Amino acid sequence: MIFKSHKLLTEHLKKKVKSSETIGFVPTMGALHQGHISLMKAAISQCDQLVVSIFVNPTQFDNKKDLEKYPRTINNDIKLIQKFITTDQLTIYAPEVKDVYGKQTVAKTYRYDGLEHVMEGANRPGHFNGVGTILEFLFKVIDPDQAFFGEKDFQQLQIVKKLVAQQKWHIKIIGCPIEREPHGLAMSSRNERLSPEARKKAQFIYTSLKLAKIYFQQHSIKKTQKLVEALFKKEPGFELEYFTIASEETLKPVVRKYKKHHYRGFIVAYLEGVRLIDNIAL
Ligand code: AMP
Repeated sequence: MIFKSHKLLTEHLKKKVKSSETIGFVPTMGALHQGHISLMKAAISQCDQLVVSIFVNPTQFDNKKDLEKYPRTINNDIKLIQKFITTDQLTIYAPEVKDVYGKQTVAKTYRYDGLEHVMEGANRPGHFNGVGTILEFLFKVIDPDQAFFGEKDFQQLQIVKKLVAQQKWHIKIIGCPIEREPHGLAMSSRNERLSPEARKKAQFIYTSLKLAKIYFQQHSIKKTQKLVEALFKKEPGFELEYFTIASEETLKPVVRKYKKHHYRGFIVAYLEGVRLIDNIAL
């Protein structure tokens, strides 16, 4: 069933889901693709019921144009979900802004032990306050046992884990691997905005991450960073916003490698004005 009202959604879930059953939750902003579907498949393999939210959350956009341009394809989204998930295990929540925010569309302020100040936090002011606000609301109205997030937004995944731990919510946060297009570009709703040529060309982002991973085995963090920057300088059409090597746990950029520490390379690049994001475990 599909709900636009959070009150009706909560009532419905209370009736539908038996006390012995578990709820898996996948929050999305719609324009769904196989990346989202992979989260739903993971959720339904581990839980009895699946709730999917489809909501383009205005408070997590720092750029009004980006919010306006964000694709909204609700009818296709519903068809796609129903192709993979049987309806008796599925509930969809697809509200209007008013149902979530009431009269004032504003975000609350959250602190996530510094995870919010780097990368996406530094480059998109207020973004993670918007993310915290919408998730607090959704977790409250859905009350899931587990929630599933993509490693594609690795910083978001770590922040959600932090938020849940800080608030002592009883929700298990599960990270799921990045789904990619056949040539390697990380699947994203934004890929639809690329011309067919650019969509192919955009595989360069993942190619450079894979090169960085190999190079990183033998070279310093600084040299690996320089390599990626040099690769992008030579590649026409791309504008590199950042390539950062950070600790997986703190997300702080690192300058020196230590054994047994886990590092990840994080990248954001523009192509045809579209902001593309990706990361790789190093
Ligand atoms: P979005 O609709 O972009 O807000 O994404 C909703 C969820 O899907 C987030 O947890 C994302 O990390 C996840 N997601 C988006 N793209 C991918 C992908 N290519 N592979 C895996 N998860 C993804």
